[in-house]
Amino acid sequence: MHKDVNKIFGSKVFNDKAMKEYLPQDTYKMFKQNLKDRISLDLNNANVIAEAMKSWAIANGANHFTHWFQPLTGVTAEKHTSFVDLQSDGSVIMDFSGKELIKGEPDASSFPHGGLRTTFEARGYTAWDPSSFAFIKDDTLCIPTLFYSYSGLALDKKTPLLRSIDALEKQTLRILKLFGHEDVKSIHSTVGAEQEYFLIDRELYRMRPDLMHCGRTLFGAKAIKGQDLEDHYFGTIHHRVSAYMKDLEEQLWALGVPAKAKHNEVAPSQHEFAPIFTDAGTALDQNQLTMELMKSVASQHDLKCLLHEKPFDGINGSGKHINWSLSTDTGINLLDPGDTPYDNAQFLLFLTAVVKAVDEHQDLLRASVASASNDHRLGGNEAPPAIISIFLGEDLTAIFDAIENNEPYIAASKKPVKLGVSLLPPIPRDVTDRNRTSPFTFTGNKFEFRMPGSSGAISTPTWVLNTIIADTLEQFADTLEKSANLYDDLQKLIKDTIHTHKRIIFNGNNYSKEWEEEAEKRGLYNLKNTPDALQSYLRKENFDMIVRQKVLNDIEIKSRYEVFMESYYKILRIEAMTFIDMVQKSIIPDVILYKGHIKKALDGDDSAEGKILKCLNNLTNNLYDGINELIKSCDFQDEDSAKMAAHYRDVVLVKMNSLRKIVDCIEVKMPKSLWSLPTYEGVPEQTFSLTG
Ligand code: ADP
Ligand code: MG
Repeated sequence: MHKDVNKIFGSKVFNDKAMKEYLPQDTYKMFKQNLKDRISLDLNNANVIAEAMKSWAIANGANHFTHWFQPLTGVTAEKHTSFVDLQSDGSVIMDFSGKELIKGEPDASSFPHGGLRTTFEARGYTAWDPSSFAFIKDDTLCIPTLFYSYSGLALDKKTPLLRSIDALEKQTLRILKLFGHEDVKSIHSTVGAEQEYFLIDRELYRMRPDLMHCGRTLFGAKAIKGQDLEDHYFGTIHHRVSAYMKDLEEQLWALGVPAKAKHNEVAPSQHEFAPIFTDAGTALDQNQLTMELMKSVASQHDLKCLLHEKPFDGINGSGKHINWSLSTDTGINLLDPGDTPYDNAQFLLFLTAVVKAVDEHQDLLRASVASASNDHRLGGNEAPPAIISIFLGEDLTAIFDAIENNEPYIAASKKPVKLGVSLLPPIPRDVTDRNRTSPFTFTGNKFEFRMPGSSGAISTPTWVLNTIIADTLEQFADTLEKSANLYDDLQKLIKDTIHTHKRIIFNGNNYSKEWEEEAEKRGLYNLKNTPDALQSYLRKENFDMIVRQKVLNDIEIKSRYEVFMESYYKILRIEAMTFIDMVQKSIIPDVILYKGHIKKALDGDDSAEGKILKCLNNLTNNLYDGINELIKSCDFQDEDSAKMAAHYRDVVLVKMNSLRKIVDCIEVKMPKSLWSLPTYEGVPEQTFSLTG
């Protein structure tokens, strides 16, 4: 059915259009100007805006409001309050004040804080983030807010992102001034986040406690036909999925999320969603909303949306590609090579800044995507390895070589590339042949960071990118502002930077064993798991840089490190508990039942029944003993979260992995009728083919 997208799009957002309609003209103008100048609102104006927001929300069916924020859990939080206020005569009015708009005080003592609030103050506050539009979800006015402690320390994922955008803007403007762009007043860090996900049947999901508690299956033998034939990728979309996608798309449109691409992914039951890119702050909110809606719309369709990075072993996992660039308020994408020598010189400066930043802070970038769930994906043969490198493509690499060696760039000109003077050959923007194995790829006019996992918020990888690049641009600006001969010094700066940091550039196959060896020779980091990667936050060069750019202070960094480390072992503990529970309540009882059947039919030890029994006895004994060891290994306690994390990684996870092998061996020997868990044959492979 044809729907009027124009009418739907943004209909549930208190956007510019709604503001113009509901706000007095001067308040609207003042609000926009304050936002631009980053000045906070006075209470009078806040009251006017609150009143307008309330009228708009009520007209659109909302009776409640909530401060919508992003604590360090990675999901969003909200506390609903109704607009209703009781009058002295017993009647009610719908009330919402500027004060309520600007500041909230949720009872927040249960959010993760890494020791921040116990040291300082127990309360957490939410503050309106006027750079993000309010919206209506579930008949509630949601006000995007920041979340911080009594002493002003950030407790959320949004604050560092906003701070990093400021840092990046400040340094980018300095560089642009050198190139004569006096007209540029502000900068956007732009982000388009592609989101992968699995959809499975809800009934099957409910029969798997591991999916319910951990988001991933802890056992499951490989299906007979998985993704071997690669017939799912871009395949025809099943009607149930298609109905879901349409519904999701429409609900996202109403919330102003420009849903664009949708297609099947490589694995059975796996799909991808992509929006049109926007500024980083909005992209963060929109991706959080997208993940929320993906889950809620799924339940309306009797489906379950899995956002875990690796729900099924042996089947491709899900990532979230962060497409990233920088653009000016005058509409110029600074990673677009441009057509003139002058544009090319500026482009090459920004490009080398990214190369230097990524090389110097590879480990921090790796840490920014570290989580227990993403560990299952990175390094698998379908996702980038844990090693960070940059794919520039042949042409740009050849240009880099030519600049570094003062040599002519093949074919294009006979002379060495002289920045700002010689015309670089048109830098190809065709990205059809891009390297899909690379974790960080230049795709013509933006970078695509492919390591982030599907379940995480984009805030951490995005603020890290913004911050490392801001810091590099600051160093560049410090050098170039002193220069008497800009283009000569620029040439030297770019040449030296390429020379020092070219080790991070790799255009080959990132999945190969040779690359791992080569990367080690080049001295690149290969941080294979979360506890190792998280240490990068504390490495002096990273730590000082984050503080220098005022994105997080020393206390805030340490608290985040604590929260992420704790979350790692807590996730593993939940997995271990679920594992133990499923083995004891389902797997061992199933086997015992089957053994009972066999014993009744037993016709001597040498019979088929005798052999099956012997085999099952061995497997079950090993499983039983192993489970007892796993239980004991979960008793480990240490004050130091890094030690806890290391224990769960080296002991608990290792035990679970080896026990899983035993369970999977048992599964294939069991009759279908006696195995209570849905198998990989059923989830996800057959979810849709079974239902027609
Ligand atoms: P694909 O990677 O699937 O080939 P595209 O390259 O067209 O698809 O775009 C992928 C994502 O990158 C989309 O979400 C798109 O909006 C986003 N994107 C495009 N240009 C930019 C940019 N300048 N900055 C940030 N994201 C961008
Ligand atoms: Mg892509």
